[in-house]
Amino acid sequence: MNKKDISDFAKKLNEMYPNAKTELYYTNEFQLLIAILMSAQTTDKQVNIVNRNFFNFLKEPSDWASMDVEYIKDFINTISFFNNKAENIKKTSTIIKEKFGSVIPKTIEELITLPWVWIKTAKVFLAVSEDAPYIWVDTHVHRVLNRLWLVNTKTPLETDKKISKNFTKENHALLHNTLVLFWRYQCMARNPKCETCPFSGKCNYYKKNN
Ligand code: SF4
Repeated sequence: MNKKDISDFAKKLNEMYPNAKTELYYTNEFQLLIAILMSAQTTDKQVNIVNRNFFNFLKEPSDWASMDVEYIKDFINTISFFNNKAENIKKTSTIIKEKFGSVIPKTIEELITLPWVWIKTAKVFLAVSEDAPYIWVDTHVHRVLNRLWLVNTKTPLETDKKISKNFTKENHALLHNTLVLFWRYQCMARNPKCETCPFSGKCNYYKKNN
């Protein structure tokens, strides 16, 4: 792993996507947190279709804390794992209302006390809401960083550990939104757009396949 390569990559992605931000639809921080929870194992696009209607009714934690969970299921039943997600939306709304006085917590330690909020989820929330320098390493981020040899790892967990140790805070800040757009629209798992990619000269995948 070469520190200059990492820095150059982060700067270049920032040039490619100067206004990068999450593609999830939300109008306040509570909705952002719920949208992130709902996006597990499904696409942002599918979540947005549901939430453009659902979020007219779910604005604050108190809106759903006392509601029947079956009601939430009816709203979100077109997304995957909607039964579990509805249960967790209800529990999360209740905890934020009762334990945090309807104010969304802003530390990883507090966020992970909420149902279905893991460290990675908390990092995504804080990266989007606070511009905190965290990168959510999922299979896509793991794939891209390995293709470019910015890491040489076997699992997303291993990648997460490597970049936590070796990427600067500035790199994390530049990459947390831009990297998502890069894997989504340029370096897809199948048929990446290598012919228009500025990194093809340094890409391990490209060298192997061309
Ligand atoms: S050259 Fe292709 S595989 Fe390599 S980073 Fe660019 S898009 Fe991805």
